[in-house]
Amino acid sequence: MKINPHFSQLKESYLFSTVGKKTAEFQKTHPGREVIRLSIGDVTRPLAPVVIEAMHRAVDDMSRRETFKGYGPDQTCYGYGVLLDSIQGSYARKGVALGTDEIFISDGAKSDLGNILDIFSEENVVLVPDPVYPVYVDTNVMAGRKILYADANEQNGFLPMPDPAVKADLIYLCSPNNPTGAAYSKEQLKEWVRYALAQDAVILYDAAYEYFITDPSLARSIYEVEGAKDCAIEFCSYSKTAGFTGVRCGYTVVPRSLVREGTPLNRLWARRQSTKFNGVSYITQMGAAAVFTEEGERQIRENLGYYRENARLIFSCLEELGIGYTGGKNSPYVWMKCPFGMDSWTFFDYLLENAAVVGTPGSGFGKNGEGFFRLTSFGTRENTAEACSRLKNLLLR
Ligand code: PLP
Repeated sequence: MKINPHFSQLKESYLFSTVGKKTAEFQKTHPGREVIRLSIGDVTRPLAPVVIEAMHRAVDDMSRRETFKGYGPDQTCYGYGVLLDSIQGSYARKGVALGTDEIFISDGAKSDLGNILDIFSEENVVLVPDPVYPVYVDTNVMAGRKILYADANEQNGFLPMPDPAVKADLIYLCSPNNPTGAAYSKEQLKEWVRYALAQDAVILYDAAYEYFITDPSLARSIYEVEGAKDCAIEFCSYSKTAGFTGVRCGYTVVPRSLVREGTPLNRLWARRQSTKFNGVSYITQMGAAAVFTEEGERQIRENLGYYRENARLIFSCLEELGIGYTGGKNSPYVWMKCPFGMDSWTFFDYLLENAAVVGTPGSGFGKNGEGFFRLTSFGTRENTAEACSRLKNLLLR
C-alpha cells in the first residue's frame, strides 16, 4: 500500500487559518473593539424570492407520489431539462449558441475545476496565472503535473498575456480574477484563444464572477471569442451570481467541437461524470432554474447591485487616499497596493491593530501577490462604510 506521494508536495495553506487565528487573538485582547471582516469570499445576502419559491414548490413535488423525483435524467448526466434550457437561454442572451448537451450541471465550480483533470493525461504541462484562486495549483500538484506560472503584476494590469515561447497543454484563466478583480477584454481573450489553438492546448476558463461584469468591452464568456469552442472549457457557478454558496450548484460547458487526439472531450467528461457523480438534488436544480428567468435575473441583479455599491465605497476610499488598486468595477474584489511599501502580512497586522479591519494578504494567492491586499464587497453596507471610514482615519493621518 502506498499513498499518493504528490500530497507531500502540497504547500500548507495557512492563509485563512492564520487570518482567523490573528483575528481571534486580537478580539481576545481588545474585547470592546468591533472587528470588521472584509476578508471573506462568501456572500451574505439571502437567496432571491423566486429561487426560494421554486425550491418550496420542488419540496412539495417530492412529497407526492405523482411528482416525486429520484435520480435525475441520466442521458444529461442528471441535469433537468428546465435548468439546462435556462442556462442555454442565458448564453443566447450573451450571443453564444450552445446545445443543452454541451452543458453539465454540478454542485459548484470548485468540484468541476478539480474533477476535470480526470480527463487529461498527467504528462500535460499546466500554465497557471500568479496570483490566482489556489485550487488550480493544488489540484495539479495532487496529480503530479508540472506547473508553469504566468506572472500577473502591476506592469500587465494583473492580466498576463500568452508568451509564444512557453509551451503549455492546459491553461487556466480566471476572469474576473480572484483575487485581483482584473478582467480580460474580448481582444485579450482573442490572443489567448489564438495561442491555445496554435499549441493544441485547452483553456480551462473560470467564469465564476462573470455576473459582476458591467463593462461591455469585457467578455462574460470565453465563447464570445471566435474559435474558443475549439479550445476552451468554461466553468460557471451560481455561488456568487445568485448567492448559492450554501446551496451548491454550478455548470460546466464542454463544447462538442472540442476534440483532442481524435476524441471529443464532451464525451470523456460525460463518461467521467456518469461514472463518479450522481447529480445535483432536484430541489437545488429547480431553485437554480429560477435564476435565469426574467424575474430571477431582476432579483439577482438587486443583490449584485448591493455588492457593487459596497465595492464602489471601497475603491472610492482608496482613490481618496491615493492608493493604487485593481478590481471593484467588474468584480466583487478590490485588490489594493499595501501603503508605505509594507508587505501583505505587515499591512494585515497594521490594519487589524489600528483599525480593527480584516482583509486577506495578497501573498497567500501566489508570489506576485506580495505587497498587495484583497478586500471584498460581500459584507454588509454598514460594515463596509464603517471599514472605509476607519481606513481613511488611519491612512490620512
Ligand atoms: N472559482 C473561483 C475563482 C472562486 O473564487 C470560487 C469560490 O470562491 C470558485 C470557483 C468556487 O465556486 P463554487 O462555490 O461554485 O464551488
